[in-house]
Amino acid sequence: MTLRAGREFLAIPGPTTVPDEVLRAMHRPAVDIYDGPLLALTDSLHRDVARVFGTKGRAYIYIANGHGAWEASLTNVLSKGDKILVLESGRFAVGWGENARRMGVDVEILPGDLRRAVRPEEVEARLKADTGRTIKAILVTQIDTASGVVNDIPAIGEARRAAGHDALLMVDAVASLGCMPFEMDAWGVDIAMAGSQKGLMMPPGLGFVAANERARAVHKTAGLRTPYWDWTERESDLHYLKYAGTPPEHMLFGLRQALDMLFEEGMDNAFRRHRLLAEATRRAIEIWSEGQALGFNIVAPHERSNTVSVVLTPGCDPDALRAWCRENCGVVLGQGIGALSGKAFRVAHMGHVNAPMLLGTIGVIEMALGAMGVPHGTGGVGDAIAWLGKQVGTV
Ligand SMILES: *Cc1c(COP(=O)(O)O)cnc(C)c1O
Repeated sequence: MTLRAGREFLAIPGPTTVPDEVLRAMHRPAVDIYDGPLLALTDSLHRDVARVFGTKGRAYIYIANGHGAWEASLTNVLSKGDKILVLESGRFAVGWGENARRMGVDVEILPGDLRRAVRPEEVEARLKADTGRTIKAILVTQIDTASGVVNDIPAIGEARRAAGHDALLMVDAVASLGCMPFEMDAWGVDIAMAGSQKGLMMPPGLGFVAANERARAVHKTAGLRTPYWDWTERESDLHYLKYAGTPPEHMLFGLRQALDMLFEEGMDNAFRRHRLLAEATRRAIEIWSEGQALGFNIVAPHERSNTVSVVLTPGCDPDALRAWCRENCGVVLGQGIGALSGKAFRVAHMGHVNAPMLLGTIGVIEMALGAMGVPHGTGGVGDAIAWLGKQVGTV
């Protein structure tokens, strides 16, 4: 006998829950791609994607996942043999850099640690040491979903400024856009990229890149440009060329709905919702950790992200725990990935998530810990509920 009937809840850090309103917006016939309302839709989406990134620069919408948007950002500003600096803090910046390496870019990794954020002072020191100004770009993630870390992007932008270096600052915001502040222009970010399937509440399939004037100037002489990703091609007035071919119409209908929902909630409120649900999760994890069988991957509390919590499991089998939650209760937790494979589980609190979804998820984890006999401090979920209640207050 299990308790899994009803809607399965996907608590993995992407793809995330797609709102019914978004699914409905996509459920309609195709339309003309050369004329009519689709043209205005494209304009509104380019404008609003740029708004979400916090830039007056341009946004580009690709039929791609995050890896595609990585490639789009690299090909548009780099040339073979260029040197870039990758700031390690988990898996994803390094993965992005690895793609650059395979394209013929000279990649240096500023070594980090899976359990902490990038240190801006180390970035500043490395850039200052680059007296010949050979580093053309810096790659970093805002939130790394493998480690659960959040990097301080404004401080990294400030480090570059303090070093007087002109390398392009390129940020992976796949796991953070729409969930926490991202102010591309104010923070000195030149290029940012994201995908549709995480904080933006869409199915996988759209990749986004935003670029400021500086990046677009570098673009003019980039040697790695290819027809599909090319910004210049996509800046054409011809609608067809804005997507380098047939527009992903249904994804665009869905994206319009998802962005409308985000704006209707208010981005600040969405950020606050993520912060509160993340903090409630962390309160439960903190108490469970008293049993010494599990604990946070990210050591410093202020470096733990508001979209995913990565839990190390030295005293239990994380995959057995995940299987218990899925099979008995219909909650799908994320597995540890990369170096944390088999050593951690991940709880996403990202995108279209509210209190019952989150409390249900951590309630099921606490059930599993009890049922499986994993030593843990008791009352974690109760503490999360009490804390959350105080934050939300009375209506
Ligand atoms: C998910 C993720 C990616 C990769 O996105 P795909 O759509 O799977 O290609 C890149 N960076 C970060 C930080 C992610 O969380």
